[in-house]
Amino acid sequence: MVSVFVSHSKDDVAIRKFFSEIFTNIGLKAKFMEWADLTGKYAGNVISKTIRAGILSGHDTSALFILLGKGVINPQTRTPQFTHNWISFEAGSAASCLKPVWVFEEFSDNIEFPIPFVTDYVNYNIDDVEHLRFLSQLFEQEIQYPTRVKNIKPHSKIKCPYDNCNATYNYWNDHNSFNCPVCRRGITINSSEQK
Ligand SMILES: [Zn+2]
Repeated sequence: MVSVFVSHSKDDVAIRKFFSEIFTNIGLKAKFMEWADLTGKYAGNVISKTIRAGILSGHDTSALFILLGKGVINPQTRTPQFTHNWISFEAGSAASCLKPVWVFEEFSDNIEFPIPFVTDYVNYNIDDVEHLRFLSQLFEQEIQYPTRVKNIKPHSKIKCPYDNCNATYNYWNDHNSFNCPVCRRGITINSSEQK
């Protein structure tokens, strides 16, 4: 069964609820694992193995979804470095086995948490039911049924213009300016350069 591993902060309650609703609606299995919940286990080993799990293991993880929110940067704990390190570790585990790394962020946010390797970047408004619908269709198309005809195309294949970034990823929204999820600097797409 196809599934995604979800990297997030448990403090971002509304974001988690928004995505959980989408996953339930379309029947996509999502693993929200918390290192703190894996009592009695070697959490780093369990999480890394889960992210790397391939089709032969019968519980394939197709992609890593990173839900950026204020809880990621400022978790309600005296030790935010734990949250930061775990998210970085999860991103690294996915990248090292060439799995897609999707980053989701609200339009109104610019969470200063750069992710060094991103394949897909999506902005959304948590209160917009159209965005909920859009994400549902996107996940069905890209994650659950990738061989079917594609109705949604990325707005742009981005190559970050900054010399010391150069990240390339799909940008799925039709906005012309946003912050690069890899280096967090502002990008403005020249409409004549769009594909
Ligand atoms: Zn960049």
